[in-house]
Amino acid sequence: MSGALANKVVIVTGGGSGIGKSAALLLAREGARVMIADIDEQAGNETAALIRSEGGDAGFIRTDVSREPDVSAMVAHTVDTFGRLDCAFNNAGILEEGSPDVTGYSLDVWNRVIGINLTGVWLCMKYEIPQMLKHGKGAIVNNASVASLVGLPGATALVASKHGVVGLTKNAALEYAGRGIRVNAVCPSFIKTPILEPYFEAHPEEEREMIRKEPVGRMGAPQEVAEAAVWLLSDAASFVTGHSLVVDGGYTAM
Ligand code: NAD
Repeated sequence: MSGALANKVVIVTGGGSGIGKSAALLLAREGARVMIADIDEQAGNETAALIRSEGGDAGFIRTDVSREPDVSAMVAHTVDTFGRLDCAFNNAGILEEGSPDVTGYSLDVWNRVIGINLTGVWLCMKYEIPQMLKHGKGAIVNNASVASLVGLPGATALVASKHGVVGLTKNAALEYAGRGIRVNAVCPSFIKTPILEPYFEAHPEEEREMIRKEPVGRMGAPQEVAEAAVWLLSDAASFVTGHSLVVDGGYTAM
């Protein structure tokens, strides 16, 4: 198998939809063996089947990234299936409207967003890194957001969770830089995926507003984020660690 990720074993969380699905397909086309981990069994299995239909190698395990036993089982199953773990795209995340402002959040919504978007990324790294250390090399990309870098009024828990992902990424990068493991993040802006559909249904005017805020004049495509993640996971990015790469059509340049 040839390609930038030839024969690497890669976990993609949230690989059943959107950016994760696009990344899983791209990784497989670059030669990786891919384990899809998603809370949605049907969607995750469909991505794995799509990869196999293209001649690639993929498996699926149902995983809730906010549950430690699930994450531990995800990594163990990957190593049982493919023999090792080289890379991970910790991408699973949710967008939940909690409240128009900081004071209105319920603790339940806050805990759910932080549990999946932030604790989930930490749990994944907790179990992935020891496997990578076994062969002294690894690369991780965490899916953060432009909400890691700027505030978005009305999305307090999202912003807090995604700022946390960038901090986690920097810390893990520093802790493992001397042991062969690179840890980076991607920070997408508004990407046309199913995560935004309920939001657009509730606020139909917002789609036009998001496009208006994008200097390039359109929303991004999942593949445009996937390309950045795949590059960061590949050896082409061998001197890049602790970095958060914006993929945002210029949004944060303003
Ligand atoms: P999406 O809804 O299309 O895909 C998310 C996937 O994650 C789904 O398959 C879903 O089933 C899975 N998932 C949700 N909760 C999970 C859990 N607890 N455990 C395991 N899997 C779970 O969304 P997307 O737009 O592709 O988002 C992927 C990542 O990109 C998220 O972390 C999101 O915050 C980030 N992001 C998206 C945008 C955007 O505009 N789409 C912008 C910035 C950041």
